Amino acid sequence: MLKRELERVLNTVPHHPSPKAELEQYATPSTLAATLLWLAEHHFGDIADKVVADLGAGTGRLGIGAALLGAYKVVLVEVDDESIRQAWTWVKDYGIDIRFDALVADVNNLPLRSGFLFDTVVQNPPFGVHRRGADMAFLRTASRVARVVYSIHKESSIDYVAENAIGWGFKVLKVYSEKICLPWMFEWHKKRRHCFPVVVIRLERV
Ligand code: SAH
Repeated sequence: MLKRELERVLNTVPHHPSPKAELEQYATPSTLAATLLWLAEHHFGDIADKVVADLGAGTGRLGIGAALLGAYKVVLVEVDDESIRQAWTWVKDYGIDIRFDALVADVNNLPLRSGFLFDTVVQNPPFGVHRRGADMAFLRTASRVARVVYSIHKESSIDYVAENAIGWGFKVLKVYSEKICLPWMFEWHKKRRHCFPVVVIRLERV
């Protein structure tokens, strides 16, 4: 599948049905999702034939993209069952023919046996605007359950994030930056559109 085609298909994955402010539910822009996955697969070989988890999957754009790029198995983990139901419906309708699992669970309290490892986590965690530290909590969980992690963060917090990940014993690479714009969604948004730079990082256990 070409990158442009991946982006087009991901754009058809719906947004959160009724976004909740406290969960920071924004769908990842399809250009950003496609680029993250494309780099993960074509530069690093981290997707095809791998067991991939999408933490905070929402309606599933990242996990679905991983499936389209040939992941062996994809596990969507999301605390909001309404979003995960949307992801599930999309997957069924599109007819992706790989092993998908969905886990409705809090990423900070995963019901996995200790020592369980995915090959790769892809995630666009809450940026921690509503609940301070939510981004770091996601990254900490991901670092415990995978060998390789791709994670999207606000550029303003990236040095702090990277420093922590190095401290946990990971090699950290900034693989891609993009400015994203989120539409007005919640009462407390002051502008009709809010744009800011984000960075995709890749963590690998050393
Ligand atoms: N990855 C999705 C959505 C990103 S928004 C996409 O690419 O479109 C962040 C997501 O994290 C939301 O869907 C939100 O419901 C979920 N989330 C927030 N806190 C969570 C938690 N503690 N455990 C699991 N999911 C959580």
